[in-house]
Amino acid sequence: MEYEPVIGLEVHVQLRTRSKMFCGCAADYQTAGPNTRVCPVCMAMPGVLPVINRRAVEFTIMAGLALNCSISETTKFDRKNYGYPDLMKGYQISQFDLPIAYDGYMDLAPSETVPGGHRVGITRIHLEEDVARLTHVGTGRGGYSLMDINRAGVPLMETVSEPDIRSAEQAEAYILELQSTMRYLGISTANMEEGSFRCDANVSIRPKGSDELRTRVEVKNMNRVRAVVRAIEYEIDRQTRMAEAGERLEQETRGWDDDNGVTLSQRSKEEANDYRYFPEPDLPPLYIDRALVEEIRASIPELAGSRRVRFETEYGLSSYDAKLLTARRETADYFESVVLSRDHSGDAIRAFAKEAANWINGELARLHNSSNGLDSDLADTRVKPAQLATLVELFQTRAISNNAAKQVLADMFVTGRDPEDVVDEKKLRKVDDSESLLPVIDAVIDENPKAVDDYLSGKETAIRFLLGQVMKATRGAADANTASQMIAERLETVRKA
Ligand SMILES: [Zn+2]
Repeated sequence: MEYEPVIGLEVHVQLRTRSKMFCGCAADYQTAGPNTRVCPVCMAMPGVLPVINRRAVEFTIMAGLALNCSISETTKFDRKNYGYPDLMKGYQISQFDLPIAYDGYMDLAPSETVPGGHRVGITRIHLEEDVARLTHVGTGRGGYSLMDINRAGVPLMETVSEPDIRSAEQAEAYILELQSTMRYLGISTANMEEGSFRCDANVSIRPKGSDELRTRVEVKNMNRVRAVVRAIEYEIDRQTRMAEAGERLEQETRGWDDDNGVTLSQRSKEEANDYRYFPEPDLPPLYIDRALVEEIRASIPELAGSRRVRFETEYGLSSYDAKLLTARRETADYFESVVLSRDHSGDAIRAFAKEAANWINGELARLHNSSNGLDSDLADTRVKPAQLATLVELFQTRAISNNAAKQVLADMFVTGRDPEDVVDEKKLRKVDDSESLLPVIDAVIDENPKAVDDYLSGKETAIRFLLGQVMKATRGAADANTASQMIAERLETVRKA
């Protein structure tokens, strides 16, 4: 029998609000010393009262609209009761039966790994609070745990998908698209390694073509996108082998062990009623004004997917280039500022945009990543969009060589200077007039008799060495085609002499 996987993802993102979910403490818990971003509310002192963070509610509405959800008119908070040392109150304020957003979907664009694209339903998006951070030191009798309450109460938004995902590749595409959406909206850093984007997967299998939902396993502890993909692949394989052997699958929570590439049983899965949810008596229900929803809808920026398509059609970019440029809103904004800093249209804008994309995705990205790390954006680069546009023009009009343009950009990247100033100072303007090149070529021929002999005795590749010497003498400013043609002519004169 052939089986197909049935996968649903639960994603928690920390929202980028200034203060925490129910108190006035600063939410950027990572930059502060342990237990310095705390107050009686997030430390769960008796008698304190929570206050709802309006911004967090607005961010959740925004996420809901971006994911094609309906927005509740009435919503409320509930207590989710469970005991664990990272939970200060003994319960987490969450949302049970009336989430802020519900019934949406996300369309995955067609790609190599998701041929034909795929639609994933969004069950719900709700708000809750993060818990304290525990650090375990040592094991056994001497072991202990350190507790940092800074993270307790940071706004956490949970997006639950329908079990519509049918492969690890679709799960990967869903995660990447969700990350991109959160970042475009500016509501979360959505960084898995830092813990501001966490993903759990519910995985089950069923006979292909059936529509039953079988016993599912929840997989946790995946700290990278790659880990989610591997954990899902492992779980599909494990469950398929069990089904083929006629073994019964337990409903349980399993943890991903990245080092060994396996999932391990952690505990039998709780049902919702294990949490004894009940309405939070300290918070009133929320009525979400339709005017506010429309205001938020109007403020949503163009998202990665539609921008990608527009870059392809409007600027004629390859889907590869468009995908790279739109992965982050800052990069897409930067690219568009470069292109729009010039008054091009029609074919000219396409040629210019193509060249600008090459420089941004190539040399500028290389410089930027090597000094800022991979996961940063171009928003704060010293190279202003108009300056990069000038550099692209200098290269496009062949005023400077490719090699020279790279040198200029490296200088601009550090100093923020205008490209023309760098070109003039370093004398990098392409030399292709014979008057200035001839003396250089003659000197190189004089200084390299061995290479000249080699060439004259039939070893034509010796010309490449001589060209290299000319490029060196002009610091890359010579036009390679012109120079190599002139060297060949010069050597023929030597032969005849
Ligand atoms: Zn607090």
